[in-house]
Amino acid sequence: LVRLRARLARSQNSLGKGLLTLLSREHLDEDTWEEIEDTLLTADVGVAPTQELVDRLRERVKVLGTRTPDELRALLREELLTLVGTDLDRAVKTETGHVAGGVPGVVMVVGVNGTGKTTTTGKLARVLVADGRTVVLGAADTFRAAAADQLQTWGERVGAYTVRGPEAGDPASVAFDAVKEGKEMGVDVVLIDTAGRLHTKTGLMDELGKVKRVVEKHGPVDEVLLVLDATTGQNGLVQARVFAEVVDITGIVLTKLDGTAKGGIVVAVQRELGVPVKLVGLGEGADDLAPFEPEAFVDALIG
Ligand code: GDP
Repeated sequence: LVRLRARLARSQNSLGKGLLTLLSREHLDEDTWEEIEDTLLTADVGVAPTQELVDRLRERVKVLGTRTPDELRALLREELLTLVGTDLDRAVKTETGHVAGGVPGVVMVVGVNGTGKTTTTGKLARVLVADGRTVVLGAADTFRAAAADQLQTWGERVGAYTVRGPEAGDPASVAFDAVKEGKEMGVDVVLIDTAGRLHTKTGLMDELGKVKRVVEKHGPVDEVLLVLDATTGQNGLVQARVFAEVVDITGIVLTKLDGTAKGGIVVAVQRELGVPVKLVGLGEGADDLAPFEPEAFVDALIG
């Protein structure tokens, strides 16, 4: 975790540092406030949250009068924390034994192909296994030919059995079988990797709804995690909106946060969907998935 924090700090601290530098100017004139707004917008914080933050900062700086560096840092930290949301429940829920007969906890992982869905599913399996839980993986991304192989490789690495179907087979049927298998094996959690091609919204996107309905024949789906690539910026918000239309998202995983300084997307996407960022991807390796912690995130931002 310390290593991940360091990496996050390296990649993220431009936003907070920039703000702190601007706030430290002796005269906070209109131009400076505009620069502060630009910094936030460039970091993908989004228009409404930017406006809110700047309004609050202006007010508090006015009340504060003379500002020491420590006071400014504390002020910025507090306001960024409010913006990121410290009170959101970010635990990934996997409620096992829903119905008589012991149904495993079920997590569906959804998102546009290429965002890191399969990798995230594999990493999440690793986290759960390390936590002492037994896991079955469902390779319901039957569209991308290599996805099932990729997931199975992850499964073998972390010690989770992978259920897969025929190539280009029915994703819902694979998902159904995965939960059935998980139930028979008596595992704690079933993670289902799905396909996501945005340009065929009515076809493949509807399919996601079907996957969920079919899985629910066994019992409730605990989590629908939407995987978003942090480097795609505002485009990620468009994707989020489309996915939220077909399936109820319960949490967000922001991947590739190691490759961008645009940490503000965390704020923007939470606003957009009204659900918390629960996990962040900080690299391609097995241990590069971490719970999203607002304090650590903001501290990394401010540097
Ligand atoms: P999928 O099509 O959504 O299942 O995407 P994949 O899981 O195959 O991931 C696409 C690429 O993104 C792969 O090369 C992954 O190694 C890479 N990737 C996934 N998550 C992260 C991350 O958090 N950081 C970085 N740097 N790369 C990632």
